[in-house]
Amino acid sequence: MPGFSFQTRQSLWNDIENQDWDIIIIGGGITGAGIARQAAYYGLRTCLIEKKDFASETSSHSSKLIHGGLRYLEYFELSLVYESLHEKNLLMYKVAPHLVRPLPFIIPVWKGGKYGPFLTGLGLTLYDLLASFRNYKNHRKLSLSEVAEIEPLLDISQIRDAFLYYDCQTDDARLTLETILSAYEAGASPLNYVEASRIIMENGRFTGLELRNTINGEEKRIHGKVLVNATGPFINSFLSEQGLLEKPLLRPTKGVHIILPHEAFPVSHAITFTSAVDGRVMFILPWHGYTLIGTTDTAGNPEEDKEATPKDIE
Ligand SMILES: Cc1cc2nc3c(=O)[nH]c(=O)nc-3n(C[C@H](O)[C@H](O)[C@H](O)COP(=O)(O)OP(=O)(O)OC[C@H]3O[C@@H](n4cnc5c(N)ncnc54)[C@H](O)[C@@H]3O)c2cc1C
Repeated sequence: MPGFSFQTRQSLWNDIENQDWDIIIIGGGITGAGIARQAAYYGLRTCLIEKKDFASETSSHSSKLIHGGLRYLEYFELSLVYESLHEKNLLMYKVAPHLVRPLPFIIPVWKGGKYGPFLTGLGLTLYDLLASFRNYKNHRKLSLSEVAEIEPLLDISQIRDAFLYYDCQTDDARLTLETILSAYEAGASPLNYVEASRIIMENGRFTGLELRNTINGEEKRIHGKVLVNATGPFINSFLSEQGLLEKPLLRPTKGVHIILPHEAFPVSHAITFTSAVDGRVMFILPWHGYTLIGTTDTAGNPEEDKEATPKDIE
């Protein structure tokens, strides 16, 4: 099989109309990439269409965390947390250990905060238990002098107690690209810079797609049995353009990170805290010589709201 390059993209594009696809996936973010990989492993003739570059949207702008969803324990979502922890550990230990790496987190228990040391410790014990004690390391309590030593920016006069636990950090864009490559190696045909412009329906059933090559404007029609819409936050606008949206399927939100040079905000652990404004969980994260702080969580339109406003930064 030839390596994956712009030349293979051209030959996949040349051949795309001649196939009867078992599954056609729209969207080359992590969702579409993962589905393409799995479908190709099952031996399905799989085609993936991405109108920009792979991972160019949400899947390269996340907080880069692969986590088990500690905060969902607050809502007793035990099976969700169990599944997420096991998937996280599968990625870290087996599927992509070079990309999914353990990251130490500090949870300070703030004076006057919502949860005291007992409940925080209990939640973290449950987190280790649900991971079948296969998290990178089990959580442990930190003394305040340890906190002051390892994260001097934390104001320990405001802290009652603190805990250390482990989740993972990744490079989200690379994880998506490697999943695309893996899908290709398993036999899928992933094409970037190709837009799904119209869903073709016959007798109320999906039969194919009209495509537009966004590099040269060329148009083609492809045929397939199953369509997977993995357009993520663009699902409402895409279906609306097709006249197929009865009511919005998603309520998109906007999340902004503040990115500072490490020297301006030096941390070596991820730090979890809750927003003073609305109590949502936020993170301070070390990231390749920078510190990410975020996110905000406001209503937003994925097509238009791509910039951080002064209000977001405030
Ligand atoms: C601020 C923020 C932080 C986050 N942090 C984390 C985190 O730390 N950990 C975590 O696990 N999750 C995190 N998430 C969630 C995670 O990033 C998303 O769930 C994930 O990236 C969604 O991937 P996707 O493939 O569904 O969507 P996307 O990555 O947006 O991909 C959809 C793709 O569809 C394409 N597309 C749209 N229309 C068409 C068309 N007509 N034809 C062809 N292609 C089309 C788009 O170009 C796009 O590339 C975060 C999300 C946000 C917003």
